[in-house]
Amino acid sequence: MPEERIKKILSLLEKAYPDAKLVLHYKNPLELLVATILAAQCTDERVNKVTEILFKKYQTAKDYANTKPEVFEQEIRSTGFYRNKAKNVIACCKELVGKFNGKVPDNTEDLVTLPGVGRKTANVLLGNVFGKQAIAVDTHVLRISRRLELAKSNDPDKVEAELCKVIPQGKWTRSCLVLGTHGRRTCIARKPLCSVCVVEKLCNSADKTYGSK
Ligand code: SF4
Repeated sequence: MPEERIKKILSLLEKAYPDAKLVLHYKNPLELLVATILAAQCTDERVNKVTEILFKKYQTAKDYANTKPEVFEQEIRSTGFYRNKAKNVIACCKELVGKFNGKVPDNTEDLVTLPGVGRKTANVLLGNVFGKQAIAVDTHVLRISRRLELAKSNDPDKVEAELCKVIPQGKWTRSCLVLGTHGRRTCIARKPLCSVCVVEKLCNSADKTYGSK
């Protein structure tokens, strides 16, 4: 039964990664929103280094909305694509100030209207700071879902819809964190560590490798 297989996979992964959580550092919805925008095409570790300094200077949406783009660009430069990211963060925070009283909205409809915010970022926020069930499909979740045949599509939004059908709603947020952690630690992109993988027996991926650790 496919449901039984998925249940088993998620249970084994949960046991393997009880400490699964977001790698990005944040203390409130605004910090997670900014960190997630900066994390596009960048490692979470690099973003954490940048935000450690950034979050001391910028504490409200108004702080970001009022900053000079050329100053902000240099502050986030090492995260890559810094001009575009600066543009998005500043525009996004202007919208927060103008339309949402400076607060990050807690629903998908409003979140996806913000510059630089797509379904993935919206779901990261909903699941991790607003206590809702949401599946955020990042590069790791996408890869693992395909390798473990939980989803077929290559499109993150379609994979989200596929995962929502096969994972019980009460486990959406947690499953996503667990799949992402599996992707970072074991089922890595170039050379997955299949010899130490807890779901190896349930995996039919053509990407399996059998070398040493
Ligand atoms: S067996 Fe290998 S490819 Fe399959 S999920 Fe595990 S690490 Fe990934």
